[in-house]
Amino acid sequence: MFILDLRTVLLLSSVMSVLMSIVLFSAYRSFPSTIKGLGWWAASCLLMLTTTVLFALRGIVPESLSIVACNLAMFVAVGFRLIGTQKFYGHEPALRRVSLIVVVGTTGAIWWTLQVPNFQMRLLLIAPLIALLYGEQLYVIAKTAERHFVSYFFGGITLIQIVLVLMRFATGFNDNVNFSGFHAVDQTLSVYLTIYSLMTITMAVGFIMVATRRLHVELARVSNVDPLTEALNRRAFSDMYDNEMRRIKRHERPMSLIIMDLDHFKRINDKHGHSVGDRVLIHFSSTVTRLLRETDHFARFGGEEFVALLPETTAVEAQAVARRICECLRQAGNAEIPAYTVSMGLAEVTSGEENLDSVASRADAALYKAKSEGRDRLELATPLKLVNSGSELACGYDPILALSKTGR
Ligand code: GH3
Ligand code: MG
Ligand code: MG
Repeated sequence: MFILDLRTVLLLSSVMSVLMSIVLFSAYRSFPSTIKGLGWWAASCLLMLTTTVLFALRGIVPESLSIVACNLAMFVAVGFRLIGTQKFYGHEPALRRVSLIVVVGTTGAIWWTLQVPNFQMRLLLIAPLIALLYGEQLYVIAKTAERHFVSYFFGGITLIQIVLVLMRFATGFNDNVNFSGFHAVDQTLSVYLTIYSLMTITMAVGFIMVATRRLHVELARVSNVDPLTEALNRRAFSDMYDNEMRRIKRHERPMSLIIMDLDHFKRINDKHGHSVGDRVLIHFSSTVTRLLRETDHFARFGGEEFVALLPETTAVEAQAVARRICECLRQAGNAEIPAYTVSMGLAEVTSGEENLDSVASRADAALYKAKSEGRDRLELATPLKLVNSGSELACGYDPILALSKTGR
Protein backbone atom coordinates (compact mmCIF):
# COMPACT_ATOMS: atom_id res chain seq x y z
CA MET A 1 0.00 0.00 0.00
CA PHE A 2 1.42 3.36 -0.92
CA ILE A 3 2.17 5.73 1.93
CA LEU A 4 1.47 9.42 1.63
CA ASP A 5 4.17 11.51 3.21
CA LEU A 6 2.21 14.24 4.96
CA ARG A 7 4.91 16.90 4.68
CA THR A 8 5.12 16.33 0.91
CA VAL A 9 1.34 16.64 0.70
CA LEU A 10 1.50 19.90 2.67
CA LEU A 11 4.24 21.23 0.42
CA LEU A 12 2.20 20.47 -2.71
CA SER A 13 -0.89 21.95 -1.11
CA SER A 14 1.09 25.16 -0.34
CA VAL A 15 2.28 25.43 -3.93
CA MET A 16 -1.29 24.95 -5.22
CA SER A 17 -2.59 27.56 -2.77
CA VAL A 18 -0.06 30.07 -4.10
CA LEU A 19 -1.02 29.27 -7.69
CA MET A 20 -4.73 29.54 -6.95
CA SER A 21 -4.26 32.87 -5.20
CA ILE A 22 -2.33 34.18 -8.25
CA VAL A 23 -5.15 33.02 -10.56
CA LEU A 24 -7.79 34.60 -8.29
CA PHE A 25 -5.87 37.87 -7.82
CA SER A 26 -5.33 38.23 -11.55
CA ALA A 27 -9.08 37.56 -12.12
CA TYR A 28 -9.84 40.10 -9.38
CA ARG A 29 -7.80 42.73 -11.22
CA SER A 30 -9.00 41.95 -14.75
CA PHE A 31 -12.67 40.91 -14.37
CA PRO A 32 -15.30 43.67 -14.40
CA SER A 33 -16.11 45.07 -10.95
CA THR A 34 -19.66 43.72 -11.28
CA ILE A 35 -18.23 40.25 -10.57
CA LYS A 36 -17.71 40.45 -6.83
CA GLY A 37 -16.05 38.19 -4.27
CA LEU A 38 -12.84 37.39 -6.18
CA GLY A 39 -10.61 39.46 -3.84
CA TRP A 40 -12.02 37.64 -0.78
CA TRP A 41 -11.36 34.27 -2.38
CA ALA A 42 -7.83 35.29 -3.42
CA ALA A 43 -7.10 36.41 0.16
CA SER A 44 -8.57 33.15 1.48
CA CYS A 45 -6.11 31.15 -0.62
CA LEU A 46 -3.19 33.10 0.86
CA LEU A 47 -4.57 32.45 4.34
CA MET A 48 -4.92 28.74 3.51
CA LEU A 49 -1.24 28.82 2.58
CA THR A 50 -0.45 30.38 5.98
CA THR A 51 -2.50 27.63 7.65
CA THR A 52 -0.63 24.91 5.80
CA VAL A 53 2.81 26.38 6.50
CA LEU A 54 2.08 26.87 10.22
CA PHE A 55 0.71 23.33 10.46
CA ALA A 56 3.81 21.95 8.73
CA LEU A 57 5.96 23.76 11.30
CA ARG A 58 4.33 21.79 14.16
CA GLY A 59 7.07 20.81 16.59
CA ILE A 60 9.47 23.41 15.18
CA VAL A 61 7.77 26.67 16.18
CA PRO A 62 5.84 27.32 19.44
CA GLU A 63 2.27 25.96 19.64
CA SER A 64 0.90 29.49 19.87
CA LEU A 65 1.89 29.71 16.20
CA SER A 66 1.57 26.15 14.92
CA ILE A 67 -1.83 25.56 16.56
CA VAL A 68 -3.45 28.84 17.67
CA ALA A 69 -2.38 31.10 14.78
CA CYS A 70 -2.88 28.18 12.37
CA ASN A 71 -6.51 27.75 13.48
CA LEU A 72 -7.09 31.52 13.42
CA ALA A 73 -5.83 31.67 9.81
CA MET A 74 -8.09 28.73 8.89
CA PHE A 75 -11.20 30.31 10.43
CA VAL A 76 -10.54 33.63 8.69
CA ALA A 77 -9.82 31.85 5.38
CA VAL A 78 -13.05 29.84 5.48
CA GLY A 79 -14.93 32.98 6.63
CA PHE A 80 -13.51 34.94 3.68
CA ARG A 81 -14.74 32.18 1.34
CA LEU A 82 -18.26 32.54 2.72
CA ILE A 83 -18.16 36.34 2.42
CA GLY A 84 -16.72 36.13 -1.12
CA THR A 85 -19.43 33.65 -2.12
CA GLN A 86 -22.16 35.83 -0.59
CA LYS A 87 -20.87 38.91 -2.42
CA PHE A 88 -20.62 36.98 -5.67
CA TYR A 89 -24.25 35.86 -5.48
CA GLY A 90 -25.48 39.28 -4.29
CA HIS A 91 -26.20 38.27 -0.69
CA GLU A 92 -25.51 40.51 2.30
CA PRO A 93 -22.10 39.37 3.69
CA ALA A 94 -22.44 37.73 7.12
CA LEU A 95 -19.58 39.76 8.63
CA ARG A 96 -20.87 39.54 12.22
CA ARG A 97 -21.55 35.80 12.13
CA VAL A 98 -18.13 35.15 10.62
CA SER A 99 -16.42 37.40 13.23
CA LEU A 100 -18.27 35.61 16.05
CA ILE A 101 -17.21 32.19 14.77
CA VAL A 102 -13.59 33.38 14.38
CA VAL A 103 -13.55 34.75 17.96
CA VAL A 104 -15.21 31.67 19.54
CA GLY A 105 -13.05 29.23 17.57
CA THR A 106 -9.80 31.06 18.28
CA THR A 107 -10.62 31.50 21.97
CA GLY A 108 -11.28 27.75 22.19
CA ALA A 109 -8.03 27.05 20.36
CA ILE A 110 -6.11 29.30 22.81
CA TRP A 111 -7.77 27.72 25.86
CA TRP A 112 -7.34 24.07 24.85
CA THR A 113 -3.80 24.62 23.61
CA LEU A 114 -2.13 27.00 26.02
CA GLN A 115 -4.27 26.75 29.22
CA VAL A 116 -5.68 23.22 29.29
CA PRO A 117 -4.07 21.37 26.37
CA ASN A 118 -6.76 19.03 24.97
CA PHE A 119 -6.73 17.97 21.33
CA GLN A 120 -10.10 16.20 21.56
CA MET A 121 -11.92 19.29 22.85
CA ARG A 122 -10.26 21.47 20.21
CA LEU A 123 -11.45 19.13 17.49
CA LEU A 124 -15.00 18.93 18.89
CA LEU A 125 -15.25 22.73 18.92
CA ILE A 126 -13.44 23.70 15.73
CA ALA A 127 -14.85 21.11 13.29
CA PRO A 128 -18.55 22.07 13.71
CA LEU A 129 -17.71 25.78 13.48
CA ILE A 130 -15.92 25.21 10.15
CA ALA A 131 -18.86 23.04 9.00
CA LEU A 132 -21.22 25.92 9.87
CA LEU A 133 -19.27 28.35 7.65
CA TYR A 134 -19.16 25.92 4.73
CA GLY A 135 -22.83 25.04 5.41
CA GLU A 136 -23.87 28.66 4.93
CA GLN A 137 -21.76 28.80 1.76
CA LEU A 138 -23.63 25.75 0.42
CA TYR A 139 -26.96 27.36 1.35
CA VAL A 140 -26.05 30.51 -0.65
CA ILE A 141 -25.05 28.43 -3.69
CA ALA A 142 -28.16 26.20 -3.51
CA LYS A 143 -30.47 29.18 -3.11
CA THR A 144 -29.04 31.52 -5.75
CA ALA A 145 -26.77 29.83 -8.27
CA GLU A 146 -28.04 29.24 -11.81
CA ARG A 147 -28.78 25.65 -12.82
CA HIS A 148 -25.54 24.95 -14.63
CA PHE A 149 -22.73 22.41 -14.43
CA VAL A 150 -20.29 24.90 -12.84
CA SER A 151 -22.74 25.65 -10.00
CA TYR A 152 -23.29 21.92 -9.36
CA PHE A 153 -19.52 21.43 -9.27
CA PHE A 154 -18.94 24.34 -6.87
CA GLY A 155 -21.84 23.24 -4.63
CA GLY A 156 -20.78 19.58 -4.81
CA ILE A 157 -17.21 20.31 -3.66
CA THR A 158 -18.55 22.46 -0.81
CA LEU A 159 -20.84 19.59 0.23
CA ILE A 160 -17.97 17.07 0.16
CA GLN A 161 -15.90 19.44 2.30
CA ILE A 162 -18.73 19.66 4.86
CA VAL A 163 -19.02 15.85 4.97
CA LEU A 164 -15.23 15.56 5.48
CA VAL A 165 -15.26 18.07 8.33
CA LEU A 166 -18.20 16.29 9.99
CA MET A 167 -16.43 12.92 9.64
CA ARG A 168 -13.42 14.45 11.36
CA PHE A 169 -15.78 15.83 14.02
CA ALA A 170 -17.17 12.32 14.60
CA THR A 171 -13.66 10.99 15.32
CA GLY A 172 -13.51 13.54 18.17
CA PHE A 173 -15.83 11.28 20.22
CA ASN A 174 -13.17 8.61 20.24
CA ASP A 175 -11.22 9.20 23.46
CA ASN A 176 -8.03 7.93 21.86
CA VAL A 177 -8.02 10.59 19.16
CA ASN A 178 -4.86 12.65 19.35
CA PHE A 179 -2.32 14.38 17.22
CA SER A 180 1.02 14.80 18.88
CA GLY A 181 3.11 15.57 15.80
CA PHE A 182 4.21 14.31 12.41
CA HIS A 183 6.02 11.30 13.86
CA ALA A 184 2.62 10.00 15.04
CA VAL A 185 0.62 10.45 11.83
CA ASP A 186 -1.23 7.27 10.90
CA GLN A 187 -2.42 6.26 7.45
CA THR A 188 -6.05 7.34 8.07
CA LEU A 189 -5.13 10.83 9.24
CA SER A 190 -2.68 11.25 6.39
CA VAL A 191 -5.34 10.24 3.81
CA TYR A 192 -7.90 12.52 5.50
CA LEU A 193 -5.56 15.56 5.48
CA THR A 194 -4.57 14.88 1.86
CA ILE A 195 -8.21 14.75 0.70
CA TYR A 196 -9.08 17.78 2.83
CA SER A 197 -6.23 19.85 1.29
CA LEU A 198 -7.19 18.74 -2.21
CA MET A 199 -10.84 19.65 -1.67
CA THR A 200 -9.83 23.07 -0.31
CA ILE A 201 -7.93 23.82 -3.51
CA THR A 202 -10.63 22.27 -5.70
CA MET A 203 -13.23 24.52 -4.09
CA ALA A 204 -11.20 27.55 -5.18
CA VAL A 205 -11.14 26.03 -8.69
CA GLY A 206 -14.95 25.71 -8.43
CA PHE A 207 -15.24 29.37 -7.52
CA ILE A 208 -13.04 30.40 -10.46
CA MET A 209 -15.29 28.29 -12.69
CA VAL A 210 -18.49 30.06 -11.59
CA ALA A 211 -16.78 33.47 -11.85
CA THR A 212 -15.51 32.70 -15.38
CA ARG A 213 -18.97 31.52 -16.40
CA ARG A 214 -20.41 34.79 -15.05
CA LEU A 215 -17.81 36.72 -17.10
CA HIS A 216 -18.79 34.77 -20.20
CA VAL A 217 -22.50 35.54 -19.69
CA GLU A 218 -21.79 39.24 -19.08
CA LEU A 219 -19.56 39.54 -22.15
CA ALA A 220 -22.17 37.82 -24.29
CA ARG A 221 -24.78 40.26 -22.98
CA VAL A 222 -22.55 43.29 -23.60
CA SER A 223 -21.76 42.21 -27.14
CA ASN A 224 -25.40 41.44 -28.01
CA VAL A 225 -27.31 44.20 -26.29
CA ASP A 226 -27.63 47.97 -26.79
CA PRO A 227 -26.45 49.53 -23.50
CA LEU A 228 -29.09 52.29 -23.40
CA THR A 229 -32.28 50.40 -24.19
CA GLU A 230 -31.13 46.82 -23.52
CA ALA A 231 -32.70 45.81 -26.84
CA LEU A 232 -30.58 43.50 -29.03
CA ASN A 233 -28.07 45.18 -31.32
CA ARG A 234 -28.06 44.77 -35.09
CA ARG A 235 -25.52 41.92 -35.09
CA ALA A 236 -27.35 39.83 -32.50
CA PHE A 237 -30.65 40.48 -34.30
CA SER A 238 -29.13 39.30 -37.55
CA ASP A 239 -28.11 36.02 -35.83
CA MET A 240 -31.66 35.61 -34.50
CA TYR A 241 -33.04 36.22 -37.98
CA ASP A 242 -30.80 33.48 -39.42
CA ASN A 243 -31.97 31.05 -36.72
CA GLU A 244 -35.61 31.81 -37.40
CA MET A 245 -34.99 31.43 -41.13
CA ARG A 246 -33.87 27.86 -40.53
CA ARG A 247 -37.10 27.26 -38.59
CA ILE A 248 -39.22 28.66 -41.44
CA LYS A 249 -37.59 26.19 -43.79
CA ARG A 250 -38.56 23.35 -41.43
CA HIS A 251 -42.06 24.40 -40.35
CA GLU A 252 -43.15 26.63 -43.24
CA ARG A 253 -44.97 29.02 -40.89
CA PRO A 254 -44.56 32.71 -41.87
CA MET A 255 -42.98 35.26 -39.58
CA SER A 256 -43.36 39.03 -39.44
CA LEU A 257 -40.85 41.83 -39.19
CA ILE A 258 -41.87 45.30 -38.02
CA ILE A 259 -39.58 48.33 -38.39
CA MET A 260 -40.51 51.09 -35.95
CA ASP A 261 -39.33 54.68 -36.00
CA LEU A 262 -40.31 57.21 -33.35
CA ASP A 263 -42.10 60.25 -34.77
CA HIS A 264 -40.52 63.69 -34.59
CA PHE A 265 -37.96 62.47 -32.13
CA LYS A 266 -35.62 65.33 -32.94
CA ARG A 267 -38.33 67.68 -31.64
CA ILE A 268 -38.49 65.77 -28.35
CA ASN A 269 -34.74 66.17 -27.97
CA ASP A 270 -34.86 69.85 -28.89
CA LYS A 271 -37.80 70.64 -26.61
CA HIS A 272 -37.08 68.49 -23.56
CA GLY A 273 -33.35 67.79 -23.80
CA HIS A 274 -31.28 64.77 -24.78
CA SER A 275 -31.67 62.99 -21.44
CA VAL A 276 -35.48 63.05 -21.73
CA GLY A 277 -34.99 61.75 -25.28
CA ASP A 278 -32.95 58.90 -23.83
CA ARG A 279 -35.69 58.16 -21.31
CA VAL A 280 -38.24 58.00 -24.14
CA LEU A 281 -36.04 55.46 -25.94
CA ILE A 282 -35.77 53.36 -22.76
CA HIS A 283 -39.53 53.61 -22.22
CA PHE A 284 -40.23 52.60 -25.81
CA SER A 285 -37.92 49.61 -25.58
CA SER A 286 -39.38 48.37 -22.29
CA THR A 287 -42.98 48.88 -23.50
CA VAL A 288 -42.42 46.92 -26.70
CA THR A 289 -40.50 44.18 -24.90
CA ARG A 290 -43.38 43.83 -22.45
CA LEU A 291 -45.94 43.53 -25.24
CA LEU A 292 -44.00 41.05 -27.33
CA ARG A 293 -43.86 37.31 -26.59
CA GLU A 294 -40.79 35.65 -25.03
CA THR A 295 -40.04 34.04 -28.38
CA ASP A 296 -40.08 37.36 -30.29
CA HIS A 297 -36.88 39.33 -30.91
CA PHE A 298 -36.52 43.07 -30.51
CA ALA A 299 -33.52 45.18 -31.51
CA ARG A 300 -32.36 48.76 -31.81
CA PHE A 301 -31.20 49.33 -35.36
CA GLY A 302 -29.75 52.75 -34.54
CA GLY A 303 -30.90 56.16 -33.27
CA GLU A 304 -34.67 55.99 -32.72
CA GLU A 305 -35.25 53.14 -35.11
CA PHE A 306 -36.14 49.68 -33.82
CA VAL A 307 -37.10 46.35 -35.29
CA ALA A 308 -39.17 43.42 -34.03
CA LEU A 309 -39.16 39.90 -35.44
CA LEU A 310 -42.24 37.82 -34.61
CA PRO A 311 -41.67 34.14 -35.44
CA GLU A 312 -44.64 32.03 -36.51
CA THR A 313 -46.78 35.15 -36.84
CA THR A 314 -48.76 36.15 -39.93
CA ALA A 315 -49.08 39.81 -40.98
CA VAL A 316 -52.66 39.81 -39.64
CA GLU A 317 -51.52 38.63 -36.21
CA ALA A 318 -48.61 41.09 -36.24
CA GLN A 319 -51.02 43.97 -36.93
CA ALA A 320 -52.77 43.22 -33.62
CA VAL A 321 -49.42 43.42 -31.83
CA ALA A 322 -48.63 46.73 -33.54
CA ARG A 323 -52.03 48.04 -32.41
CA ARG A 324 -51.34 47.18 -28.79
CA ILE A 325 -47.94 48.94 -28.95
CA CYS A 326 -49.40 52.12 -30.44
CA GLU A 327 -52.24 52.22 -27.91
CA CYS A 328 -49.82 51.85 -25.03
CA LEU A 329 -47.55 54.63 -26.31
CA ARG A 330 -50.39 57.10 -26.70
CA GLN A 331 -51.16 56.71 -23.00
CA ALA A 332 -47.51 56.90 -22.00
CA GLY A 333 -47.01 60.64 -21.37
CA ASN A 334 -46.31 61.39 -17.71
CA ALA A 335 -44.20 63.68 -15.52
CA GLU A 336 -41.03 61.93 -16.68
CA ILE A 337 -41.58 61.78 -20.44
CA PRO A 338 -43.80 63.51 -23.02
CA ALA A 339 -46.42 61.59 -25.01
CA TYR A 340 -44.95 60.30 -28.27
CA THR A 341 -45.96 58.20 -31.26
CA VAL A 342 -44.34 55.71 -33.58
CA SER A 343 -44.63 54.84 -37.26
CA MET A 344 -44.25 51.26 -38.40
CA GLY A 345 -43.61 49.25 -41.54
CA LEU A 346 -44.58 45.57 -41.46
CA ALA A 347 -43.31 42.86 -43.77
CA GLU A 348 -44.38 39.23 -43.71
CA VAL A 349 -41.72 36.63 -44.46
CA THR A 350 -43.05 33.48 -46.07
CA SER A 351 -39.98 32.23 -47.85
CA GLY A 352 -37.02 30.65 -46.11
CA GLU A 353 -34.83 32.21 -48.77
CA GLU A 354 -35.41 35.93 -48.16
CA ASN A 355 -32.48 37.51 -46.32
CA LEU A 356 -32.69 40.18 -43.63
CA ASP A 357 -31.59 43.03 -45.92
CA SER A 358 -34.36 42.25 -48.37
CA VAL A 359 -37.11 41.98 -45.72
CA ALA A 360 -35.85 45.10 -43.93
CA SER A 361 -35.86 47.13 -47.13
CA ARG A 362 -39.46 46.04 -47.87
CA ALA A 363 -40.48 47.01 -44.31
CA ASP A 364 -38.50 50.25 -44.64
CA ALA A 365 -40.43 51.22 -47.76
CA ALA A 366 -43.67 50.65 -45.83
CA LEU A 367 -42.31 52.74 -42.95
CA TYR A 368 -41.43 55.53 -45.35
CA LYS A 369 -45.01 55.44 -46.57
CA ALA A 370 -46.34 55.56 -42.99
CA LYS A 371 -44.25 58.68 -42.40
CA SER A 372 -45.42 60.39 -45.54
CA GLU A 373 -49.04 59.42 -44.84
CA GLY A 374 -49.01 61.40 -41.60
CA ARG A 375 -47.09 59.23 -39.04
CA ASP A 376 -48.52 57.43 -35.97
CA ARG A 377 -49.59 54.59 -38.23
CA LEU A 378 -48.70 51.22 -39.67
CA GLU A 379 -48.21 50.35 -43.33
CA LEU A 380 -47.77 46.90 -44.81
CA ALA A 381 -44.96 46.12 -47.18
CA THR A 382 -45.68 44.88 -50.67
CA PRO A 383 -46.32 42.29 -51.96
CA LEU A 384 -48.63 41.61 -49.03
CA LYS A 385 -52.37 42.10 -49.22
CA LEU A 386 -53.95 44.06 -46.41
CA VAL A 387 -56.33 42.03 -44.24
CA ASN A 388 -58.95 43.56 -41.99
CA SER A 389 -58.91 41.77 -38.64
CA GLY A 390 -62.53 42.85 -38.05
CA SER A 391 -61.87 45.61 -35.58
CA GLU A 392 -60.40 49.06 -35.99
CA LEU A 393 -56.65 48.68 -36.40
CA ALA A 394 -54.03 50.46 -34.45
CA CYS A 395 -51.99 53.59 -34.95
CA GLY A 396 -54.87 55.37 -36.64
CA TYR A 397 -54.45 52.71 -39.26
CA ASP A 398 -57.57 51.90 -41.26
CA PRO A 399 -56.91 49.30 -43.98
CA ILE A 400 -59.83 50.41 -46.15
CA LEU A 401 -58.71 54.04 -45.93
CA ALA A 402 -55.11 52.99 -46.52
CA LEU A 403 -56.16 51.05 -49.60
CA SER A 404 -58.08 53.99 -51.02
CA LYS A 405 -55.22 56.40 -50.23
CA THR A 406 -52.58 54.24 -51.81
CA GLY A 407 -54.82 53.38 -54.68
CA ARG A 408 -54.37 49.62 -54.20
P1 GH3 B 1 -39.32 61.39 -38.17
O1 GH3 B 1 -40.67 61.50 -37.56
O2 GH3 B 1 -39.35 61.71 -39.63
O3 GH3 B 1 -38.71 60.07 -37.91
O4 GH3 B 1 -38.45 62.51 -37.54
P2 GH3 B 1 -37.35 62.36 -36.42
O5 GH3 B 1 -37.12 63.67 -35.80
O6 GH3 B 1 -37.77 61.27 -35.48
O7 GH3 B 1 -36.12 61.80 -37.22
P3 GH3 B 1 -34.68 62.40 -37.45
O8 GH3 B 1 -33.93 61.32 -38.17
O9 GH3 B 1 -34.76 63.74 -38.10
O10 GH3 B 1 -34.06 62.59 -36.00
C1 GH3 B 1 -33.69 61.52 -35.23
C2 GH3 B 1 -33.07 62.11 -33.99
O11 GH3 B 1 -32.76 61.10 -33.03
C3 GH3 B 1 -31.78 62.83 -34.27
C4 GH3 B 1 -30.82 62.32 -33.24
O12 GH3 B 1 -30.16 63.35 -32.57
C5 GH3 B 1 -31.70 61.58 -32.27
N1 GH3 B 1 -31.00 60.49 -31.61
C6 GH3 B 1 -30.36 59.46 -32.19
N2 GH3 B 1 -29.87 58.63 -31.25
C7 GH3 B 1 -30.21 59.14 -30.04
C8 GH3 B 1 -29.99 58.75 -28.69
O13 GH3 B 1 -29.37 57.72 -28.40
N3 GH3 B 1 -30.51 59.53 -27.70
C9 GH3 B 1 -31.21 60.66 -27.99
N4 GH3 B 1 -31.69 61.37 -26.97
N5 GH3 B 1 -31.41 61.07 -29.26
C10 GH3 B 1 -30.93 60.33 -30.27
MG1 MG C 1 -37.93 59.28 -36.23
MG1 MG D 1 -35.09 57.60 -37.85
